[in-house]
Amino acid sequence: MNQIRMSEQDLLVSFETALEQDYIFVCYQPKINHATGRMIGAEALMRWKDPVNGMQYPSDFIPVLEKNTLIPKADLHVFEDVCKFQKKCLDENIPTVPISFNMSRYDIFHSDYVGKIEQIRQKYRVPVNLLHVEITESSAIGGSELVSRVLNHLHVLGYTVEMDDFGSGYSSLNVLKDLEVDVIKLDMRFLSGGIGGRSGMIISSVIQMSKWLDTPVIAEGVETEEQADFMKSIGCSYIQGYLYSKPLPEQEFIEKLKHTQHEPVARTINLIESMDAGRFWNPQSLETLIFNHYVGGAAIFTYQDGILNLLRVNQKYQTELGMHMCEKEVLTSDPWESFDENNKKIYQKTIQKAIQTREEESCETWRTVCSKICGEDRICIRTDMRMIGRAGEEYIFYAMVRNITAEKKRFDELAESERRFRFASEQVNVYAWEYEFSTRQMRPCFRCIRDLNVPVLVENYPEPLFDSGLFPMDYYDMYHEMLRKIETGEVDEIEEIIPLSIARIPFHVRYTLERDENGKPLKAYGSAAMVVDNSET
Ligand code: C2E
Ligand code: CA
Ligand code: CA
Repeated sequence: MNQIRMSEQDLLVSFETALEQDYIFVCYQPKINHATGRMIGAEALMRWKDPVNGMQYPSDFIPVLEKNTLIPKADLHVFEDVCKFQKKCLDENIPTVPISFNMSRYDIFHSDYVGKIEQIRQKYRVPVNLLHVEITESSAIGGSELVSRVLNHLHVLGYTVEMDDFGSGYSSLNVLKDLEVDVIKLDMRFLSGGIGGRSGMIISSVIQMSKWLDTPVIAEGVETEEQADFMKSIGCSYIQGYLYSKPLPEQEFIEKLKHTQHEPVARTINLIESMDAGRFWNPQSLETLIFNHYVGGAAIFTYQDGILNLLRVNQKYQTELGMHMCEKEVLTSDPWESFDENNKKIYQKTIQKAIQTREEESCETWRTVCSKICGEDRICIRTDMRMIGRAGEEYIFYAMVRNITAEKKRFDELAESERRFRFASEQVNVYAWEYEFSTRQMRPCFRCIRDLNVPVLVENYPEPLFDSGLFPMDYYDMYHEMLRKIETGEVDEIEEIIPLSIARIPFHVRYTLERDENGKPLKAYGSAAMVVDNSET
């Protein structure tokens, strides 16, 4: 059908017929919890489809109706349709949600408007909790006596009041202070320049403020996943917009109701104050600078019922994880994919601990990464994470990651050589240790620790071993002379027989010098092997 914009005159002439013939009707737009995908409510929006001129837009016909004092009549018509709809759902066991209707500022001035809607509601016996009122910020401006009285009346009757178009006017904050509203609707379309600029900061401070007021926020006009994720990351997961659904005709909305799970609006949006995740979206903010340049690999993710969802990662995150993907690909892939069961458990445990302690918690997990170029690879990632926010049962985390595969491998190699060394010394009855000159620290082998009670690290070597009696005091001077020769580099190897331990068993004590690249003495490797008396054989 052609769409022809009707003139004011035509609209006025057709108005009564349009009401009678239901050319004026209602569409419903779902409100969704982006964190769970469940429906929390819907908004009733007026539509006018003229049989000759086709669809007329609210932005065109509503001002005309307002100007000609016809809007209260149109709005009562919409309200009655909504009541009929809810009644039908209740009668036919269609699972429904609270539906909000728009109240124009002309309705507020209309005598006993609230009395009239209450009559209609009672006629259809719709529970008041299934009906929400949307009042625009501009109609509340001035916070006049009258507006307060109407709002109060609505509250007394049990209606939930939503402040529409919050952020569109200049006096938003004052309005909020003066009027008690139950829900704030923040229109993303009023925020020019997207979420990256100043807007991101404005939105996140509105969310902070709504938290202090304990008032839930619904973001409307949300068209992209990016906007929705951003809102979620700053603690607002209630979304209305084309991203989830356009306003739907009644029948289609009923189908939607039947096939979507529902949940009530909760008041527990709680973001930890010290951390303003919203600022990570502002490219000029210090946080973003830090996020991108100084912190190394970092990510913001959410966690709920075992599901991990990456909201944001920086460039270094991808480098650390050796990913050849763009940010969008990283964000849409399942983070658990690279974990095996065991490592997943380790990671989940750390998340749980971070939720409990609210402190930074760390873990090391192995992951399998794949790339077209290098094939499959195992990498070890150290993660330091901290919970920065919570929305219902969903937790928001900030995580720093570091690829420690190389360190791990080196450590494993060391452990392996240590293990071999231990076996070897076990075989030959040798005690061994390392002595570093600059620190005067001595590190004994496993057998020294086990058999001779030598501490894992001996400071101020060799004094404590004389004190403990392991070295006999009468060898004190001789032993120091031996160390002096090796420490000064006078000799590269030196050996003496010294009776060791309380039992005074003679040992070949031997030192081998290690020098640095300039030939300067660095440390000595010591060993003690029992003097074998061969005379019996
Ligand atoms: P509103 O109350 O702020 O309603 C939201 C408007 O945003 C609707 O436009 C909706 O279709 C549109 N919208 C929803 N999601 C998106 C999105 O993601 N992107 C974009 N670009 N738009 C989105 P609609 O239906 O054209 O209504 C326009 C305005 O007309 C409404 O703004 C409201 O102020 C007024 N209006 C609509 N129905 C009624 C009514 O029954 N009574 C009164 N008094 N006013 C109404
Ligand atoms: Ca509205
Ligand atoms: Ca709005």
